[in-house]
Amino acid sequence: MNISEILTHLGEDREQYFNAVAPPVIQTSNFAFHSLNEFRQAFANELEHHIYSRGNNPTVAILRKKLAALESAEDALVFASGMGAISAAILANVQAGSHVVCVDSPYSWTKNLLQDYLPRFGVTATFVDGKKVSLIEEAIQDNTTLLYLESPNSLTFELQDIRACAELARRRGLVSILDNSYSSPIFQRPLSMGIDIVVHSGTKYLNGHSDVVMGVLCTSKAMAQKIFEGEYMTMGGILPPHDAALAIRGLRTLELRMKRCYESGLEVARYLEQHPKVERVIHPLLPSFPQYQLAKKQMEGAGGLFSFYLQADSLEKAEAFFNHLDRFLLAVSWGGHESLVLPAVAFYNIPGGGAPTMPWNLVRLYIGLEDPQWLIEGLERALAQV
Ligand SMILES: *Cc1c(COP(=O)(O)O)cnc(C)c1O
Repeated sequence: MNISEILTHLGEDREQYFNAVAPPVIQTSNFAFHSLNEFRQAFANELEHHIYSRGNNPTVAILRKKLAALESAEDALVFASGMGAISAAILANVQAGSHVVCVDSPYSWTKNLLQDYLPRFGVTATFVDGKKVSLIEEAIQDNTTLLYLESPNSLTFELQDIRACAELARRRGLVSILDNSYSSPIFQRPLSMGIDIVVHSGTKYLNGHSDVVMGVLCTSKAMAQKIFEGEYMTMGGILPPHDAALAIRGLRTLELRMKRCYESGLEVARYLEQHPKVERVIHPLLPSFPQYQLAKKQMEGAGGLFSFYLQADSLEKAEAFFNHLDRFLLAVSWGGHESLVLPAVAFYNIPGGGAPTMPWNLVRLYIGLEDPQWLIEGLERALAQV
């Protein structure tokens, strides 16, 4: 289906609500039935009926239909956060004694779940360099049930060969999950490359306006049913209807925003790449990126997120750069309208914190919807301080 049709019309049954153009926020906890028989019918399959908003809600359902279609999935579930979706997808596919193979630098809280939390329940994980499919294959054990991928990741942007990994998972009987937050379904569709479950932090591009925290899981009808009856209804980390309505509004411009972020991101990345105060730029769709050929093969674009290494001879000079970068907000997250900077040094000298693992001159930028030339002027002035 055409992407603009999905974003503008799909799932919107306007006849049901006075032909209102904007879908209503059905702010209700429960739904009433006409008869006992109808009530019983609904209980037989809660995924297909409106009983209680921890299960189904009509506003949330519109969002689910659009997200499923965007990822070419049979169904989608939405959660209160990206971690809600990721936890549900992982928990649904392990049990005591299971083993997970995961790429070595996934989103930090995903790593926390697999490395520190799940071992309490007898689930173990091995983290491997996902750039080599052979290393992934070597890490598979007799009790491995799950392969967890994130391509690209959101700091150093390493990719996995998605088709090869999906084929390996299928051959070895593993369920495969891929975190597609970086590319959004506009630029990468992992299910069409053979992945079983796609997860997103919908907080980022999908909502796109820095005002909702949400998670998304796209998969087959059978897997969605299993997760709905298991983790979704049991853990209860659902997206409220009002947030779903905001996300539907955010999605209207997804395609436009992704194109803008991609073009502006490349423009700023190219500017930085030739700047003497910049050691190296890491952007999957710059020819200097080590996996550039693979990126071109499986991604249609890259959004506005990339990193670079400052060429600074002291921490003080690097800090001067951040303190003068006034056109970028100093903040976590990304995918909204506003440009952001996340310096690795923000993780240094945290009271009570551990030793940082990132090099101090690593900087992550998110290029939002502002004029890229205006952002470049701001970078130019801040780099002059280094
Ligand atoms: C932000 C993020 C998450 C977590 O999503 P939340 O919505 O913050 O829970 C997961 N994966 C990636 C790649 C992210 O950037």
